[in-house]
Amino acid sequence: MLFLSPRSEKSPQELGILPELEGFYRFDEKTPEVNAAFLFHGHLDHSAYISFINREIPVYCWKPTKITLQTLSEMRTVNLEFNVKDISFKFFRTGDTIALDDLEIEPLHVDHSVPGAYGFIIYTSNGAVVYTRILGLTERSLK
Ligand SMILES: [Zn+2]
Repeated sequence: MLFLSPRSEKSPQELGILPELEGFYRFDEKTPEVNAAFLFHGHLDHSAYISFINREIPVYCWKPTKITLQTLSEMRTVNLEFNVKDISFKFFRTGDTIALDDLEIEPLHVDHSVPGAYGFIIYTSNGAVVYTRILGLTERSLK
C-alpha cells in the first residue's frame, strides 16, 4: 500500500481528502475547534490516519482498538501513518455515557466484521442523533 501512503504530512490536506477542521491536525498550529474524536472501530480505513490528529485532542475508542493501533505502530515502519505516540486515548464500552460540553454520548456495540465496532446515541439539547455506522437517524425520523 506504499503507493497509497501520504508523501508528506500536509499532502492529504493539500489533496483535499481530509475534512477542513481548524486545529484538528498535528501540523496545524491553530487551536483545535473540536474537543474530542471518536473511533468507531479498528478497520484501518477508519483508524490508520489517527496519526494526523493534534495531540491536544483526546481520542475515544474501545480499548482493544487502541491496542490494535499500538500493535500496528510497533510492527510497521512508523512515519506518517500508524503513529499513535502521545495520543491521549480514552476508553468506552457499552453502558458508558460520555459527557462532552452539552452533549452526552452513549456508545453501543454494533455488528460489523471486526470486534469492537460501535455506534453512538448523541444526546443534544435539540434531541438525539443516532449514528450506527450504517446510517444516521435523528430522533424525529425514528418516530
Ligand atoms: Zn469497517
